[in-house]
Amino acid sequence: MKLTFLGATGTVTGSKYLLERGKQRILVDCGLFQGHKELRLRNWDPLPINPASIDAVILTHAHIDHSGYLPLLVRNGFQGKVYCSEATEALCRILLPDSAFLHEEDARRANRYGYSKHHPALPLYTQEDAEAALTLFEPIAFGWPCDVGGGMRVVLSRSGHILGSAFVQVTDGRRTVVFSGDIGRMHDPIMHSPAQLQDADYLLVESTYGDRQHAETDPVEEIGEVVRSTVAAGGSVVIPAFAVGRAQLILYCLYQLKQRGMMPDVPVYLDSPMAISATDLFRRFHQEHKLSAELAERVCDVATYTRTVEASKAILQSPMPAVIISASGMATGGRVLHHLKHFITDARNTILFSGFQAGGTRGDRLLRGEKEIKIHGEMFPVRARIENLENMSAHGDYVEILSWLSHFHRPPRQTFITHGEPEAAASLKEKIENAYGWRVTIPEYLESVELD
Ligand SMILES: [Zn+2]
Repeated sequence: MKLTFLGATGTVTGSKYLLERGKQRILVDCGLFQGHKELRLRNWDPLPINPASIDAVILTHAHIDHSGYLPLLVRNGFQGKVYCSEATEALCRILLPDSAFLHEEDARRANRYGYSKHHPALPLYTQEDAEAALTLFEPIAFGWPCDVGGGMRVVLSRSGHILGSAFVQVTDGRRTVVFSGDIGRMHDPIMHSPAQLQDADYLLVESTYGDRQHAETDPVEEIGEVVRSTVAAGGSVVIPAFAVGRAQLILYCLYQLKQRGMMPDVPVYLDSPMAISATDLFRRFHQEHKLSAELAERVCDVATYTRTVEASKAILQSPMPAVIISASGMATGGRVLHHLKHFITDARNTILFSGFQAGGTRGDRLLRGEKEIKIHGEMFPVRARIENLENMSAHGDYVEILSWLSHFHRPPRQTFITHGEPEAAASLKEKIENAYGWRVTIPEYLESVELD
C-alpha cells in the first residue's frame, strides 16, 4: 500500500489521507483547511490526483475539517461511496449543507460589500454540491469489517470524540493501517472513552494537544464563575461553540449549574440552527453517549432554541443579561459573528471560548489579546472580557494520547504524527519516542510513503 498525506500536516485542519493498493484508491477523511489564509487557499488548489479516480472515501467523523471537502470532491468527479458510521452520516446531513451555505453567504457578502479581489466572488461549493455528496453515503456498523474494494477492508471503532466518531482500521490482509482521526477524552462527562486498539503495522496519530495537558479544572465551575461574574456586572456571556459536541457539553454544564443552584436566573439561548439539529441527534443517538434518554432530554431543555433569523435578532434587542451559545466555535463564521459584533465592544460582556482555536482564526486572535477584530469586513474594538474554558476539549491531551497508545501490543512499523501545529507534533513525537521507543515521523504536506 502507498500512503499520501493530502492534509493535516503542520496544521489541525484539512485531514485527507490517500491510501493506494494497486489501482484501488481510497481517501480516509476529506476535510477542509481552515484558519490561516494560506491554508484556506489550499482548498482552492486542485488535488494532486483526479477525484474521479478515487474509489471510496472513509470518514473518521463529521467535523468539517474531516468531511467538509466532500462536496468539492464530488463536484470534481468523485462517484464512489462514502463509508462512515450512522451518526457521522446523520451529522454530515446537517454539517455539509451548512458549510455550503456559509461559503455561499461569504461570497454573497463579499460581492455586496466588494471586499473580495475576485469579481464576482464565488463560493468554494454550493448547497447542491453538498446534497450531491450526501447521496453517496453508505453507513457501516462499528466493529464490522466492510469490503471497500481492491482487497482492502475497513473496520470502525469508537474514538469517543463526538457522536459517531471512529478510529479507522484498513487492512489488505497483510498490513493494517490505523487512522486515529480525533481521539476523545478518557473521562468525558458525556462521551464514552476511546476504544482500545491493539494492533497496527502503520499508525497515524493526531497531535492537536501533543504538547499540552488539559487543566484539571471542573468546566461546570468554570462556566459558573464566568456567568455569575458577568451577569453581576450587568453583562451577557457569548459562548462560541462547535455546534456538534461542544454545544451539547455546554448545555450539560449549564444543566448541572442549575441543579446545584449555582446559575443566575437569566435566559439561555442556543442560537445556531446547526447546533439545534445536532442536539436533536444527541437525543436520537443517545446510545452513543453516557446520558440516558431522559437525562439527555432534560439537558436539552436548559436552553431556548432560536431557529429563525428574527428570533436570533430579538436576542440582541433584549436589555436583559443572557447566556448565548452560538456557532462557529472558532468564530470563523455563523451567527456567533453577529453576537460578537454586538457584544464585543462592551466591557461588561464576556466572550467565552470553549476549546482549541486554530492559528489565525478570530478565536485565536482574540485569545492572544488583539485589541481590534475584523468581522464582515469591518473593524470592532475589543472591550469585552475574553476567556477560554481550559478543560472542555473533545481531544485527549498528550497524557491521554500516550495512554491510548499503551494498549498496542507491539510497536507499529511506523507511526506518523498528523493533525497538529508543528510544535505540538514535534513534542508528541519526542514523547512517544521517549516513552515507547517507537519509530515516529512527522510527514510533510503531499509526502508519499510506501507501506511495505
Ligand atoms: Zn474533530
